[in-house]
Amino acid sequence: MQQLPMYPTLESARLAAQECRACARSETRSQVVFGAGATRARLMLVGESPSGTDDATGKPFTGPAGRLLDHLLGELGIHRRDLWITNLTRCFAGVERNGRIENRPARSAEIRACAPWLELELRYVNPKVIVAIGAPAAKYFLGASFQLTAQRGSAFEVVGGRVVIPTVQPAYVMRLQSIDPSRYDLARAELLEDLRTAAIAAGMLPPRPPLPE
Ligand code: SF4
Repeated sequence: MQQLPMYPTLESARLAAQECRACARSETRSQVVFGAGATRARLMLVGESPSGTDDATGKPFTGPAGRLLDHLLGELGIHRRDLWITNLTRCFAGVERNGRIENRPARSAEIRACAPWLELELRYVNPKVIVAIGAPAAKYFLGASFQLTAQRGSAFEVVGGRVVIPTVQPAYVMRLQSIDPSRYDLARAELLEDLRTAAIAAGMLPPRPPLPE
């Protein structure tokens, strides 16, 4: 695994990351998509990999899935600039399917290669709560046996006293919209509630009122 120095600032780390060639994704990216947002955020969102749109903009979660995420955060009264948003890997890799270029899932070796950058972001931002978006991010923080479908939305305390809340990928929710609208409504509501749970745990929203007896 690559060893990174302690950069004086997160911005200097971001600039250094632009030169990273520690895995095969360096060959398919246009640019490295480092995390973005509030450098002292109480809440960090960690997805899997940058999309093709992110590869063009240089920012994480900027495609249709990112717009859904922004919309859901907006329903909670939160803006992405209040959070730190990042991914397990920082470079786009695509695969052709039905004449379209889609995101290629991150390989274990790529996640391991990029982990020092993620750990560096965690060290600088020092969030209280992490939302692990999608199964790969959930397994990164909670172990390989973690089952997202059975355990999403729960709060798990991990080493260092941080809380990890796993949830589904906005891209998965978006796909349901065209193939199964009733499941889309449910998945969207679950994602919204998981974000709310995380924001409450981070102290960004007041606790839910108690249920009536
Ligand atoms: S994905 Fe991460 S480890 Fe791989 S080249 Fe990009 S920045 Fe480096």
